[in-house]
Amino acid sequence: MDTVSMAPKVWTRQAGLTEKRDVWTAMKRGFRGRCPRCGEGKLFRAFLKVDGNCSVCGLDFTPHRADDLPAYLVIVIVGHIVVPAALFIETNYSPPVALQLAIYLPFTFVASLLLLQPVKGTVVGMQWALRMHGFDENAPDDMPPV
Ligand SMILES: [Zn+2]
Repeated sequence: MDTVSMAPKVWTRQAGLTEKRDVWTAMKRGFRGRCPRCGEGKLFRAFLKVDGNCSVCGLDFTPHRADDLPAYLVIVIVGHIVVPAALFIETNYSPPVALQLAIYLPFTFVASLLLLQPVKGTVVGMQWALRMHGFDENAPDDMPPV
């Protein structure tokens, strides 16, 4: 079931007050590089540069504060793949170190590059769904933006 039709096409303060935000749906849409609200507009305008707003529903993406969290998460994910594999292979087969480095280093580099954008999109989707930072439309007007 898709909730795209449920979201208002033009954001208004009144629509924002009643808007339901499903965390998992928003995170999945962010993982695919799509707008967490409508799932159609592109979230990124460059590799890791989040666009200013959604081209379909107009959601403002600028309040996100992903910062370094995507990089930390990618390190955790890739580390939990490469380190156990390296320990297992070294313990059981002991191939030459040069061969191991020729496999582990490129794999780590490529896996990190492939995961960075989806993980960042997931973080932005989660922040939007949880109304973190500037994504909370009900925040007091005198509250600082960060
Ligand atoms: Zn959108």
